[in-house]
Amino acid sequence: MRIGNLDGRLVIVRDEGVLDVEELSDGLFPADPQAIYQRWDEFRDWAASHPQGRPSPLDPERLRAPVPRPPQVFGIGLNYRDHAAEAGLAIPEEPVVFTKFPSSVTGPSAEVTLPSDKVDYEIELVAVIGRRAHRVPVEDGWSFIAGLTVGQDLSEREMQWRGTAPQFSLAKSFDGFAPIGPVVVTPDEFDNPDRLDLGCRIGGEKLQQGNTGDLIFGIPELVARLSQVVTLLPGDLVFTGTPAGVGATRTPPRFLRRGEVLTSYVTGIGEIRTSLV
Ligand code: ZN
Repeated sequence: MRIGNLDGRLVIVRDEGVLDVEELSDGLFPADPQAIYQRWDEFRDWAASHPQGRPSPLDPERLRAPVPRPPQVFGIGLNYRDHAAEAGLAIPEEPVVFTKFPSSVTGPSAEVTLPSDKVDYEIELVAVIGRRAHRVPVEDGWSFIAGLTVGQDLSEREMQWRGTAPQFSLAKSFDGFAPIGPVVVTPDEFDNPDRLDLGCRIGGEKLQQGNTGDLIFGIPELVARLSQVVTLLPGDLVFTGTPAGVGATRTPPRFLRRGEVLTSYVTGIGEIRTSLV
């Protein structure tokens, strides 16, 4: 199943168009795209019964963040070997965790204001939590995931590194620094949800290209490790880390510029387009 946020209303996205969940369910489920994660298992089972309705055409420009108000947003640093290497940092022995404050979340065709000329891109696969998770064993990790979406972990590098200690959370939380979308796709839709191609580009300029099979800590491992400490909540997001190719470690550096459109994709989910202003 693919679900989205069409002008603030939860929709099921099918090849033939979109179905409004509140209408299709006669009010059994609410229109709020964030609220559905509180009743995820019930919703998924209902949707699996293939309720029939009349789909309306999808206008991708009207899609907003599919998870608009996550209670918590986790980011994982240095989770691909090639990215740790380009950053000149050791392969982590446990996940490097920071937060992106939830107010930084925006949609799949957002305009994002660049606060400086040192803003970097990081294509990431984003996992959406579907059940409250506390001390989950790694073999059960996937069962706590509602679905997957595409994200950019936009990062202001000067603030991130200039102080006496790194400022990951603040430097990655300017307004609009967490664009996600276009839809959330349930794990059963993928041949192998542990091996997905992802990347980003500006026009014809390829910036990053990778595969989530190269994650040091995969999604089940992240659910297990994070939930040893923090209780994961329905509707939380986990930005799983970025592969090599970020702008800051290039010679010369390649930061985002006003007027550019950053296109980010994960195969099997779709792409988001972020306009930088
Ligand atoms: Zn990142």
